[in-house]
Amino acid sequence: MPSHFITASMLYNLVSCEHRLYLDTFGDTSLRDEPNAFIQLLWEKGTLFEQEVIRKLETPFLDLSCYRGEEKEQRTRNAMNERIPLIYSGRLSVDDLLGEPDLLRHEGTGYVAGDIKSGSGEEGDEGKGKLKKTYAVQLGLYTDILERIQYSAGRWSFIWDIHDNEIRYDFSQPQGTRTPQTWWELYNTFRQRARDILEQAHTTQPAYSSGICKLCHWYRPCLLNLQKQQDLTLLPELGRSKRDALRTYFSTIHGFATSQLDTLIHGKNTDIPGIGVGTLQKLHARAKLVSAGKQARPYLRKAVDLPVHQSEVFFDIEVDPLRDHTYLHGFIERRNHDNSTEQYVAFFAEQPTPESEQAAFAQAVRYLQQHAHSKVYYYSKYERTMYRKLQTKYPEVCSAEDIETLFSQERAIDLYFDVVLKATEWPTRDYSIKSLAKYLGFLWRDTHPSGAASIEWFHRLVESDDQAIRQRILDYNEDDCIATRVLLDGIRQLPLHPSIT
Ligand code: SF4
Repeated sequence: MPSHFITASMLYNLVSCEHRLYLDTFGDTSLRDEPNAFIQLLWEKGTLFEQEVIRKLETPFLDLSCYRGEEKEQRTRNAMNERIPLIYSGRLSVDDLLGEPDLLRHEGTGYVAGDIKSGSGEEGDEGKGKLKKTYAVQLGLYTDILERIQYSAGRWSFIWDIHDNEIRYDFSQPQGTRTPQTWWELYNTFRQRARDILEQAHTTQPAYSSGICKLCHWYRPCLLNLQKQQDLTLLPELGRSKRDALRTYFSTIHGFATSQLDTLIHGKNTDIPGIGVGTLQKLHARAKLVSAGKQARPYLRKAVDLPVHQSEVFFDIEVDPLRDHTYLHGFIERRNHDNSTEQYVAFFAEQPTPESEQAAFAQAVRYLQQHAHSKVYYYSKYERTMYRKLQTKYPEVCSAEDIETLFSQERAIDLYFDVVLKATEWPTRDYSIKSLAKYLGFLWRDTHPSGAASIEWFHRLVESDDQAIRQRILDYNEDDCIATRVLLDGIRQLPLHPSIT
């Protein structure tokens, strides 16, 4: 019996962060943060969706969900020996692998495993045909167990997703045109890495990633650790793989900042695998800025053209990915660069229905069309992506050309991609609107503002119709719009770096 089984959820977490697997297995649980409310919501919704799918199943099936541990496993084996066509909530183990697939379906001479997921079975909002690594490694584990115990019907598996689609995961296929490694090879790479971590043959390190770490229950202890180590991942856009490549040469932000790069650069190349000259110099400048501590000031890497317009509109949307529902479109209009003229306008799709979503979308498009002479500012490509998606969903609201016009460069500026990433440097851990606007002194009224929290509030609003929650969502969205304005004004004040002037 292995000291630690490799499970599907371990592999799922491993795809995002290998240190998570280490801490979940060996970490001091008293240091863990409270579970994130959004993550809890995801679990609840996942369980509810699974129950709903099972309730609607028309095929007869054997339900093993009331059993646990070895009894569940024995019953699963018995059912497979009897060739029961469909088994719900079974359990399988062999060697050091343990899996509890939602479904085991008899096909041909054996079984294939599947999971029910309350999200899309493929990457991207619209299911672009790219399989998800997190799902692939889980399904790979079930398939591997079935093969090893000689019950497998073939090296493939499936996800039953939120759209009631069955997405096939064929492990013999390459991951993509540019990634020839097959899904099976990917699974085996992660399985081996998990084994090494569980046997402590591989030492893991935390690596800061804004989108992942803020939702993780090890966030605070990891951040403290990273700060103590002055870890390079605390520099924006410097993730685990770049940190690991750089670590041969520099182990701390200060060490990186005070180093001479000349010996590492040879013409157009550097000694550091995967990091080109331009990236190395940019990250080096970033390290220098962050190392300056209280003296650090943000600056422009190149001049930006952000003239003041008579009317400026700051725009932010809130989307519930669990329901695939855009529930709020918020706008703040400022006239003549005078903050006292600001007015917040919101179009709220309070009911989680297509009718409500369509009505709010139509109002928001009309608002933007009525402000055809305003300059529109938003933060990240998300707004444009979602508007394209909403237009496809509700073509009666406007045409695809209308959306392109609304987001054309003459009319709208994505402050994140077009300005912050291309032309600015900040002494912050990341370039989220929260980090930058807070750096500039802006405070959200809410004590725990985040997009994930807003989604959780929306779910509670739908269940309770609590008007205090409604207002909390609106305040949060309004503050996001104001933060975009604060950031724009802040960028307009930034000096060009002295080496450029
Ligand atoms: S906080 Fe970040 S680095 Fe730490 S375990 Fe979680 S995901 Fe990994």
